[in-house]
Amino acid sequence: MLVFKQVEELKKYLSSKQQAGKTIGFVPTMGALHNGHISLINRSKQEVDITVCSIFVNPTQFDDATDLEKYPRTLENDLELLLNAQTEVIFAPTVLEVYPKGLETAVNINLGELATVMEGAFRPGHFEGMMEVVNRLLDIVEPDKLFMGQKDFQQAAIVKEMIKQTKRPTKLVVCPIIRESHGLAMSSRNERLGAEDRETSQILYKSLKHVKNNMATKSIEQLKKEAVKMIEDAGLKPVYFEVSDGNSLSALTEWEDSDYIVACLAAFMGNIRLIDNEIIKFPKV
Ligand code: AMP
Repeated sequence: MLVFKQVEELKKYLSSKQQAGKTIGFVPTMGALHNGHISLINRSKQEVDITVCSIFVNPTQFDDATDLEKYPRTLENDLELLLNAQTEVIFAPTVLEVYPKGLETAVNINLGELATVMEGAFRPGHFEGMMEVVNRLLDIVEPDKLFMGQKDFQQAAIVKEMIKQTKRPTKLVVCPIIRESHGLAMSSRNERLGAEDRETSQILYKSLKHVKNNMATKSIEQLKKEAVKMIEDAGLKPVYFEVSDGNSLSALTEWEDSDYIVACLAAFMGNIRLIDNEIIKFPKV
């Protein structure tokens, strides 16, 4: 396993591999790794020759300074997990390597509703910062394939649109959500929850399943209300619960209005903000 901290050294290494005909897969992360991240590494290893995993807590995507400060940083443990997963290349840069003085890194594309609904409505600047870092990292790594999690459904939808609009050759592969045994979606933020709160938070997945299991007999409006009530009754504070078109992320009111439907939510367990989603109806292929 090779660990790079500098952009130029990583680029030099990867371009020699690309010239030798090797395919590159890229898994961007903010560290505090868990099995959700490792599932992306495993998928990449199945599909390409060399897997690059970046560990970088990106300051530009945090709208809350305390959240950035409290974000878990566990580099040694991360490296051990990546070594066990036989990851070929790690990129763990400093903020100055990613954002050197004088380099224009902002991404100016129009995402319309994709970036203003759900997470976009509650976390001003979050997706602009996320696009900025993903775009910059894609410039550095130039992967054939980019592996991201369905866990961050809106993030993946935005990156897909960014890749399309910026005409990059990279293919985005969206990987399924890995959950803890009781159903809570794995997240670096779960580390900040006590065992009991983790257990309670499984209500989030249950509420998504409730919507999926009852879509044949109840309206979207009714099921959204029921889901929110389930979450509140368990003691969490829902931020939003949406049933949306899986491509445009526009909120739906009728099941018939889309053949690709996703339910997405955010809720606070104490002061920890959790998100989750479930694809309710898959697009016809
Ligand atoms: P993060 O470190 O939170 O920025 O996440 C890095 C990548 O891992 C993103 O593409 C996430 O969507 C993905 N990811 C995070 N949690 C999970 C999970 N539970 N299952 C699958 N992928 C995940």
